[in-house]
Amino acid sequence: MDSIEIPKRIETINSFKAQGGKVAAVLPIHYSRALFRAFDILPVEVWGPPEVEASYGGVHLQAYVCSIVHNALSFLKKGGLEIADFILVPHACDSLQGLGSILLDFVKPTQTVAPLYLPRGKRTEDKQFLADEFRALARQLSNLTGKEPGDDKLLECIEREEQADLLLADLYRNRTGLGLDNLSFYRLIRSREYLPAEQFTELAQTALEKHSARNPNGIPILLSGIVPERMEVLKAIEELGGFVVADDFACCGRRLYPKGNERDPFLRMAERIINAPPDPTRGNSIDERAEFLINLAQTYGAKGVIFYELKFCEPELFDLPNLRNSLKQAGLNSVHIEVDIKDPLSNQVITRIGAFLEILE
Ligand code: SF4
Repeated sequence: MDSIEIPKRIETINSFKAQGGKVAAVLPIHYSRALFRAFDILPVEVWGPPEVEASYGGVHLQAYVCSIVHNALSFLKKGGLEIADFILVPHACDSLQGLGSILLDFVKPTQTVAPLYLPRGKRTEDKQFLADEFRALARQLSNLTGKEPGDDKLLECIEREEQADLLLADLYRNRTGLGLDNLSFYRLIRSREYLPAEQFTELAQTALEKHSARNPNGIPILLSGIVPERMEVLKAIEELGGFVVADDFACCGRRLYPKGNERDPFLRMAERIINAPPDPTRGNSIDERAEFLINLAQTYGAKGVIFYELKFCEPELFDLPNLRNSLKQAGLNSVHIEVDIKDPLSNQVITRIGAFLEILE
């Protein structure tokens, strides 16, 4: 199986709306898909997007703000989010917090804009705090839709997302046997950013049923960072002789949310996020991250880590020197590559990845 047919984002949005649903544009990183679906709202994530004339956002933003935020604001100002009925800006970092304020106080789009504050820890109080954030968001979604889903409906939606996330984890576990190249695998994984859970579940089941015996060739590597954009980099890695066996991207592997146990739906939504793989934007320590990455590399046989980072991404860049030192002490080589999603994939990036793969051979 070399590729799999994935419904396009715009077709998915139009079809959801044609059935009477609404759409929310959701900025990175963590939120609850189930909460939106309980109000018949499809959350569609906005990671940039990369191919946008980014100067529109520059009027409001400093040059040292990352390209995710520059592009998202430019996309909004050019009318790219008009199809959305609601905009959610989780406070993953200072840049997104700034974007939330700019939207609420200056740009004032026609849609309701809501922030979502995330706790920076794993204590009981953190879970309670996030559950309260979800309760506050639920009140806003109720105002928008006039709906008031009860606990049963919320739990039904949570369980549907849990099922989709279990399959997402299965795809990761079985990735080398799926017969998908790097790029096709990540197109499939990233369709979770906009497909309704039930559609993603079907797609994942199809991919898993077509499990192939063909093992990929290439030097096994682990990718870390925020988002694999431009996605051509995944193809380039393969052409250079590498194969991605695991990742720690904020948009992908860091959102392998485990199944929850709480019976209160809001606590359950919070618990799933708090127990996800470590993420600097949720306050997890460098030691936790190093341990997680070393385990991931050992489990999947990765020979090295490419930190594929976005310029000016403070939460990532603050951790990097100590994190790379810890990996080195554990015998795991790494390279740090900085990109800007506004730029096409450069020869310099390709050359650096190629040189790193040569070291690992
Ligand atoms: S790339 Fe980094 S700085 Fe930019 S929005 Fe994401 S977490 Fe924040």
